[in-house]
Amino acid sequence: MIGESTSVAVTDAASVINPSTHRPYQPTSPQSISHADEHRAVRAQVLEGIRHALEEIQSTIAPEDVPSDGTSDKKQFVRHFRRIKLRPEASAGFYDLNLLDGYIEFGEGMLETMRQLDAATLERFVQIMVLHETLHLDQGLYTSNHSGVSHASVVLEEIDYIADAVSLATAIAWRARVKPENQSLEQIARDYIDTAVRGMEIFDRVEQGDSIKTLAESRLRRYLIWNLQHVRAAEVETVDDMFAMLLPRLAIEIEPLSGTLDDKFEKIVGTGSERTQLFLSLGGSLVRQSSDLPSFDVAGILDSVRAYDWHKVRRTMRYVVDVHRDLLAPKL
Ligand SMILES: [Zn+2]
Repeated sequence: MIGESTSVAVTDAASVINPSTHRPYQPTSPQSISHADEHRAVRAQVLEGIRHALEEIQSTIAPEDVPSDGTSDKKQFVRHFRRIKLRPEASAGFYDLNLLDGYIEFGEGMLETMRQLDAATLERFVQIMVLHETLHLDQGLYTSNHSGVSHASVVLEEIDYIADAVSLATAIAWRARVKPENQSLEQIARDYIDTAVRGMEIFDRVEQGDSIKTLAESRLRRYLIWNLQHVRAAEVETVDDMFAMLLPRLAIEIEPLSGTLDDKFEKIVGTGSERTQLFLSLGGSLVRQSSDLPSFDVAGILDSVRAYDWHKVRRTMRYVVDVHRDLLAPKL
């Protein structure tokens, strides 16, 4: 009935995968999709924003925007990315990307989730998400062998780091070349990296509300990585600087943390103690930082992540970058 406002569960199917974690997407209560006209109209607007964002980058992207370290064949990567056409209607599922048939489609649940992003963030999110997924295809991660990959945490984190870094580097280089709009490369880089963090956040908000109570350790590490990279973007002046900042593998852990195992045997983190330190490795060099100063509270980072308080997380990360500038921001 036109104008009727009903809610239906669309995300309680076991097959729904969160594209930002590759793990099952499990809202604590079924995600409700209102079919009231005004909500349908907003989702149609989101779909239109996605169409515009994809068309713009696909029509102007060039192999020179892709970092050399990121993929063995830049031209092929660009060709694969350009092949993906958006299905014009919202689908029945959550989302699907199929390189062989050359399409991507978004379901009502995914559109409803993306509705949380403002127009500019949505544009950037779509670009990096489709670049990320395209790189997975080049990496050999297909829909056909995707199931269960989330159990292989270390392997998945490796390929996801590369996919995140390459998609961000490519989108930032493209944006700076095609549509800089008087922004510095540093600002463009910060906007895209912030979008990567926000893109993870929207799924956690739908799943868990205003606080991440069930925080998987791998999720924590990914939030820490991209908030630290946001701070490191301060040293970016040229595209080569930006590639050199993003591409080398960065790993961050806060340990020891208490925790429990979930039903997939993934560690869900609890709390830290006075022994808890932050450890990171960048291109194979180690940094460790304990809570030895009042301005640096390692265990406190956990509370900030749970509350999506990126401002606070980045303030803490700024301290780490300051103290270890030789390694983390040598050009500053
Ligand atoms: Zn991925």
